[in-house]
Order: sequence, then structure tokens, then C-alpha cells
Amino acid sequence: MTDHHHEQDDEVNEGELIQQFVMWVEMFVHDVESVPDEPTGRHWCPEWWQHPEAVARLKSLHEAYKQADEENTMSAWWIQHWDPQARTLFSGAGPFKGCQRKHAFLDRAEDYTPRLVTVAPPAEWTP
Ligand SMILES: [Zn+2]
Repeated sequence: MTDHHHEQDDEVNEGELIQQFVMWVEMFVHDVESVPDEPTGRHWCPEWWQHPEAVARLKSLHEAYKQADEENTMSAWWIQHWDPQARTLFSGAGPFKGCQRKHAFLDRAEDYTPRLVTVAPPAEWTP
């Protein structure tokens, strides 16, 4: 894609933003959250970045965190963002559910994607 061939500044900024995000996740999980990796407990994965759903959730949490930090609304962030997201993120049915038995989905055939299948609607279809 041509998007990756922007000016040098854009690439540096994007890299810095990604690094900030990774550091935020590590800081939060490491220092704030306690996640025992037990069958009945909460699930986490050291390679969280391998899980698209987890990345999407953590990314949206990070964006909301930055905004809440600026607006001094951290309490609302905890209750409205972190708590419900964390319940799903770390649950036994969440994105890390298979991580205790290694990453089975990474060992599958190259054409396998751990996603639900969709079929495109017919051209005349309207919602
Ligand atoms: Zn994992």
C-alpha cells in the first residue's frame, strides 16, 4: 500500500505511537492488573499482540485512557471502559481462551484464519 511510503516524520510518529501503546499495555498489565492464569481465573497472553480482538480492545482502551487523562475523568474511564472491557478481555471465552495450550491457531495451515466466515450479500440486498 502506498500509505506506508509517507514522509519520514509520519513513519517516526506512527512508530512512536505504537511504542507508547505497547508500553501502556505492559505498564497496565504488569503494574495494575493481577491476572492469575488458572482455568477458573482470568486469562492473559504474553503475546497479546498476536490477538486481533485483544489489540483492538486494548487500543480503544488506550485512546479513551488518554482522553480521560486529559479531561480528568479517570474514574469514569475505569467504570465505563476498563471494567467491562477487562471482563471480556480476560474471560475464559475471551481472546486469550486458547493461550494456556499454546497458540493452536498459529500451528494450523497457512490459509487458516481464526475468524468467522462471512458470505457477501447479493448485489440487490439492502439493510
Ligand atoms: Zn495468546
